[in-house]
Amino acid sequence: MAKKYDLIVIGAGPTGLMAAKVAGENGLKVALIEKKNDIPKVKRACGEVININEYSWGDFINFNAKRKLLNFPVNGISVKYEGPYKNIYGMYTYSPSGQCIIMGDCSEAGKVGDAARKGIAIDKEILQRGLLEDVQKNDVEVIQGTFIHEVEKKGETVTVRDDSGEYEGVFVIAADGLNSKMAQRLEFNKEREFRGTLRCLFWHVTGVEPPAPDALIHVMGGKEAPALFGMCCTHREGEYWIAVDDFSYKTDLTKGADYVMKKDAFSPWFKKLKIIRTTSCVGNLYSPVVEPFRDNVLLAGDAAYSPQISINGGMICGWKAANSVVLALLEGKRNKEGVMSYLDWWKKDIVERFPYGGGNFMESLEDSEIDYLFSLFKEPLPGTLDPTTAGMHMQKHMMKIMPVISDEHPEILEKLKAFQAKTSEEIYAERQKVGFPNR
Ligand SMILES: Cc1cc2nc3c(=O)[nH]c(=O)nc-3n(C[C@H](O)[C@H](O)[C@H](O)COP(=O)(O)OP(=O)(O)OC[C@H]3O[C@@H](n4cnc5c(N)ncnc54)[C@H](O)[C@@H]3O)c2cc1C
Repeated sequence: MAKKYDLIVIGAGPTGLMAAKVAGENGLKVALIEKKNDIPKVKRACGEVININEYSWGDFINFNAKRKLLNFPVNGISVKYEGPYKNIYGMYTYSPSGQCIIMGDCSEAGKVGDAARKGIAIDKEILQRGLLEDVQKNDVEVIQGTFIHEVEKKGETVTVRDDSGEYEGVFVIAADGLNSKMAQRLEFNKEREFRGTLRCLFWHVTGVEPPAPDALIHVMGGKEAPALFGMCCTHREGEYWIAVDDFSYKTDLTKGADYVMKKDAFSPWFKKLKIIRTTSCVGNLYSPVVEPFRDNVLLAGDAAYSPQISINGGMICGWKAANSVVLALLEGKRNKEGVMSYLDWWKKDIVERFPYGGGNFMESLEDSEIDYLFSLFKEPLPGTLDPTTAGMHMQKHMMKIMPVISDEHPEILEKLKAFQAKTSEEIYAERQKVGFPNR
């Protein structure tokens, strides 16, 4: 006989932990089921940088260090964070030869201090431990070390199964992350655009000396380099992470990292590099699910999004999804109608406002052309760590420099226009060829 619950939450990342906490606080009978044996432990690659002091996912998240609280004033959420942190003041993006687009001058912002920070490097394990403590305080049944692989609607409830048995809920929140088994089983992925298989090699390192130690850094290493090279300090003194990502299985990520780190512009940063820990991540990227509901299962967080919703976005999403289930049960609407507040929010405030997609226009340019374009960003742009806001700042400056590009390098303008005219099928064609969609 399956155990019965009001709500079953699958996956105990930021999304699932928040969902289980909220449902427990509202007095629901909840099970939180997680495949890891040690829930807070971070095993998959994650930069652990959260952005604050600016709008992100529709909220203006701030960190009250004295009270040890992350606050989400738009949504009315507060989450305890009792761990160490380090301020991040801006985002620096480098061209292949080392020209830099600065979003937030870190040396100036650093003088101002906390009010000018745009993010903090945190310990995600401590954040998740805090959430788990709240989950446990609220009588949620936590079942760990087991993988849910089946889901089935039976009458008015939904049953999920692991290897040893089954659990029955009025609703299920599937917060099982980027490669969601539940999204696959419920056939959401069949309708989603496949945008490639992203492989990420992630090093924790010491001994690196980037010119802006408290910036989130991206290096566009050029045609020979992997698609993405990022780095940032962690909350630990002297420690950084380096992430190298690519969509092609043919790319040797270690060699790719080496290639970037040996380039003239960047080699001085890495002279004393020492790798102290390695993690990784492989994820299939699809377009976001537009209506994340089927058979009384709500998809939430990375499970429904693309590429990743972030730690903050996941917590907001878990909060919204769980509150909609609470309302559905209070109103006696044990169906899609009951959770419409979540589905409406997801469509309007996430999918339509943050569509992320469309690839990177830099991919259509030669290395020297990227260097030229970057050289036209002479003054720092406003500080941000939010990709949507960063895109807006970039676009605004691009409009300003268009006449210069048109005069000096009309061929670059033509390439940019041609990229803009591409369909998403054309943009993702190459990634699709070398990816492994697991629909
Ligand atoms: C390389 C990389 C760097 C990143 N850097 C940052 C960053 O700096 N800042 C930031 O905010 N975000 C970052 N992110 C994104 C962030 O990690 C995610 O968006 C966030 O963790 C999403 O939370 P989630 O709870 O939806 O999913 P997850 O955190 O992935 O949690 C899903 C949970 O479900 C469990 N699970 C999966 N399948 C099952 C199953 N069938 N049964 C039971 N349990 C299951 C998993 O073990 C996991 O614990 C990064 C992501 C990557 C890949």
